[in-house]
Amino acid sequence: MIIAIDGPAGSGKSTVAKLLAQELNIEYIDSGAIYRTFTLYGMQSFEGNCAGHEDQIAEAVANNPDLISITYENHSQIMWLNRKQVSKELRVLKLTKQVKFIADSPRCRELVNAKIRKISQSYSVVIDGRDIGTIVFPNTPYKFYLDAKPLVRAKRRAIDLNIPQEGEEFEELLKSINQRDRYDMDREIAPLKIADDAVHVDTSDLSIEQVMAVILGHFERIKQSDKVF
Ligand code: C5P
Repeated sequence: MIIAIDGPAGSGKSTVAKLLAQELNIEYIDSGAIYRTFTLYGMQSFEGNCAGHEDQIAEAVANNPDLISITYENHSQIMWLNRKQVSKELRVLKLTKQVKFIADSPRCRELVNAKIRKISQSYSVVIDGRDIGTIVFPNTPYKFYLDAKPLVRAKRRAIDLNIPQEGEEFEELLKSINQRDRYDMDREIAPLKIADDAVHVDTSDLSIEQVMAVILGHFERIKQSDKVF
């Protein structure tokens, strides 16, 4: 079973995906963390800048299957780069600004997708990302698209990053979220968009418990429907 959850940054998709994985006792794949690990490798290899090096990064990953690897422990995904755990290094702003180069590279995207598809052959999974329901698993019947107003999403991200929910730093965060959304939605390859058959949930005014109730309701309905064999 494959459950796809797409949406912009701060829409609540990773929180929902983790809770769903626990509830259903399946694995959670954080596809953004895989893109971020490619980015970290690029930054380490090319003086902090992945731009223009996308094909070299893809080639290094393709030629060395152990360069970037993924393990699971207690339903948590652990990212490894050169046999070193890097999960905690992936969410810094400097790296977030560089991910777009990897996300825009067809070769890198193919390699990320190959890793995701391989894990999904062995496990039932819930995967969050931008193109999971549209490109990576267009045939899964379990597709959700989460969204929320930009200001709400920026406030959630501020809580995650432990910064105030107003003031200069917050305005900067809001701007960067809006920029990243535009970039993810406007890019030519695998843009963020709602799959025709996805359940669309606006989480702006919902608590996480309410979002989970909506998602689980739809999950049960889809499971019962004769679309699933
Ligand atoms: O979800 P997260 O914020 O960690 O994703 C980081 C970036 O990776 C996104 O802004 C997007 O550009 C890229 N990404 C993607 N496709 C995915 C997951 C992430 O392009 N399936």
